[in-house]
Amino acid sequence: MTLETAANTIMERCDILARFSEEPDRLVRRFATPPMKQASETIAEWMRAAGMTVHQDNIGNVIGRYEANHADAKTLMLGSHLDTVRDAGKYDGPLGVLTAIACVERLHERQERLPFAIEVYGFADEEGLRYHSAYLGSSVVAGTFDQNILDRTDNAGIPLAEAIRTFGGDPDNLVASKRPSDDLLGYCEVHIEQGPRLEALNLPVGVVSAITGHSRFSIDFIGQAGHAGTVPMHMRRDALFAAARVIEGIEKTARPQQGLVATVGQVTVEPGASNVIPGKVTISLDVRHQDDLIRHLACHQLEEQAHQICASRGIATQWQEVQDTDTIRCTPHFIRLMEQSIEQLGYDAHVLPSGAGHDSVALVELTNVAMLFVRCKGGISHHPAESVMAEDVAVAIQVMEQFFTLLAHEQGQA
Ligand SMILES: [Zn+2]
Repeated sequence: MTLETAANTIMERCDILARFSEEPDRLVRRFATPPMKQASETIAEWMRAAGMTVHQDNIGNVIGRYEANHADAKTLMLGSHLDTVRDAGKYDGPLGVLTAIACVERLHERQERLPFAIEVYGFADEEGLRYHSAYLGSSVVAGTFDQNILDRTDNAGIPLAEAIRTFGGDPDNLVASKRPSDDLLGYCEVHIEQGPRLEALNLPVGVVSAITGHSRFSIDFIGQAGHAGTVPMHMRRDALFAAARVIEGIEKTARPQQGLVATVGQVTVEPGASNVIPGKVTISLDVRHQDDLIRHLACHQLEEQAHQICASRGIATQWQEVQDTDTIRCTPHFIRLMEQSIEQLGYDAHVLPSGAGHDSVALVELTNVAMLFVRCKGGISHHPAESVMAEDVAVAIQVMEQFFTLLAHEQGQA
């Protein structure tokens, strides 16, 4: 199979997987749903055709293994996730699983084995859409799965444990699916960039330096509801006007700071009527920066600012932290091997942080991690317009193959 054919096959397979959806008019494939079953079974078939032995673990990840050229060899993990967000694009997740399968398929065709085994993972949940907890699949593999969430229910009232069982997994024995780490070389994932940087640099691929840490808050503003016609402006305690000032301050604080991003993605106004002064407002706040210290300082500054604005307006504010995830550094040695691989193919090796979370966040607890980003059109992701070019996918295959060669040299048996 030529490189071009391999890349085109990956593109066609992304199209095929995009048909496995819970809704007819848009792509949504949540954890342990019938479309996820179809996707897993299809991936398993493709893995077998590429010369791998395949099994499903106790959370529902599909795992294919391609043996090494000798018995006590180490193992390199590859892969990505098979679940999607609502109204998703076709490439976020599947591209990484399919590129990994293509690399193995090309080895298999040449009847070539490497001095390390390859395991390809199709993770059953990364986005966390169904149970509002990301990395269900990779956290089981890493051995960091939180057993306390097994009782959690989805929108239809189905507990996570039951969903796992229906999917053919075993919620009582998830610990058995932790991947032992003694023979692991690391985990390496190909993923679309989900941002505009590589396109701006006119580069097909880039190496990920780190997965940016983030803080999430839920902030309440409590004022006094009242009649929109009878209460004079100077006597009001309007929660939304206060929230608006705070939101404006968030942008002003974040904008001048290099690498800092802050987003208010949800605003809820109560009672939410056109003729009633807003009595209570709740907003979400998401803050990210590669440097955890800068992120924490920024969050502290924003909180202070909010308290000041609210105090001057007689508004009570409650600032609740929902999530705090530290920055994950990709393994420096793997970054260097990736850079070398890209340079040997004649491209500039650009190293960039990932603003989005990925399975490496969970797997860094288990082993070395590396990520290769593929340019996407307009930086658009989590949207049906998500788009990658077959030519770039071909480059990703080549980089991975070069990376294998460099790793093989290190294993002393190339
Ligand atoms: Zn993804």
